[in-house]
Amino acid sequence: MDQKAQAVAAFSKVEGELIRISRWMYDNPEVGFEEYETSARLAEFLAGHGFAVEYPAYGLETAFAARAGSKGPEVIICAEMDALPTVGHACGHNLIAASALGAGVALAPLAEDLRIRLMVLGTPAEEKMGGKVDLINAGAFAGAAASMMVHPSNSDVVDPNVLGVRHIDVEFHGKDSHAAFAPQLGINALDAFVQAYVNVATLRQAMYPTDKIHAIITHGGDAPNIIPSYTRSSWYVRAATRERMDELYDRVLACFEAAGTATGCSWNVEPMGHPFEGMVNNPVMVDLFAANSAELGRPMGRGADEEPGAAGSTDMGNVSQVVPSIHPFLTINPGDHVNHQPGFAAHTVSADGERAIRDGALAMAWTVIDLVVGDRWNEL
Ligand SMILES: [Zn+2]
Ligand SMILES: [Zn+2]
Repeated sequence: MDQKAQAVAAFSKVEGELIRISRWMYDNPEVGFEEYETSARLAEFLAGHGFAVEYPAYGLETAFAARAGSKGPEVIICAEMDALPTVGHACGHNLIAASALGAGVALAPLAEDLRIRLMVLGTPAEEKMGGKVDLINAGAFAGAAASMMVHPSNSDVVDPNVLGVRHIDVEFHGKDSHAAFAPQLGINALDAFVQAYVNVATLRQAMYPTDKIHAIITHGGDAPNIIPSYTRSSWYVRAATRERMDELYDRVLACFEAAGTATGCSWNVEPMGHPFEGMVNNPVMVDLFAANSAELGRPMGRGADEEPGAAGSTDMGNVSQVVPSIHPFLTINPGDHVNHQPGFAAHTVSADGERAIRDGALAMAWTVIDLVVGDRWNEL
């Protein structure tokens, strides 16, 4: 039996268990840096399948590093596992985790023969803080030759467009007063937020399709009869390149500044989590993955053929800046639903959703085998 067939055989033995793990995650979603039960369950699975598991790992309570193989280039398969507030696994990270585990189990028995060091890395908090950036800073990727993961989506794209993003919170500070009896003595921090929001809305006409700004208000005041002295809001600023991001970010700050001046409020910005970088898709790995995925019955589209503005962000972008990486999208055929909708979450436990576990795991495992067999490391 050749190595790809051996990988399929090893995966097939655990496929049912991986589907159960994914469904369990769907039923028990945990948000970023609170993936305690999830990370424990994933780490336990890998320990039970021959991996040397370090858990917690790299200074993060919900990160784990599961290793197999003792020599050769190191390959890191990233297992995202966090859910979203209120909409659960609407980004399908249950499928990401299950496919990462599946790729690990498919490759672990071959690791010594292939002469690779394999790591399945549990990467917390992709949706919010950027756990992979903490892992990079802690040295998790320092010795890696290649890194990969797959992400569920509504189309199959091997090298999807990814935007950089900065996450910030903004506070406006004014002065409380009786809203009816003495409004003239108040300084309204809610007005400052509203003006900031409208200023940014006006800025949108000068934005590229790949520039994205979105916000929610997280504290808007305490009672209608008190002029709000304090508001807080969360903002994401996205752009295709680092340069454009800096430019756009400065213009957003100018919107806040203008709102503060007009209303008499002071303001401050607090970075929330790490900035995410754009994705550098490694061309060798992209081609290998696309060929393997096609062979598994899932032909891949290319990011260049997609609407450039139809893109999100990922902390895998930061990984791709330091290690040759790929982050292919796999469709779960979610119909009219897209990521971050409850209907998308429901599709992660459908037959199409669960086929992405198999295709993702095997396409990753076969890509690693191709890197070894073709000795492609120097080309990465
Ligand atoms: Zn997401
Ligand atoms: Zn996601």
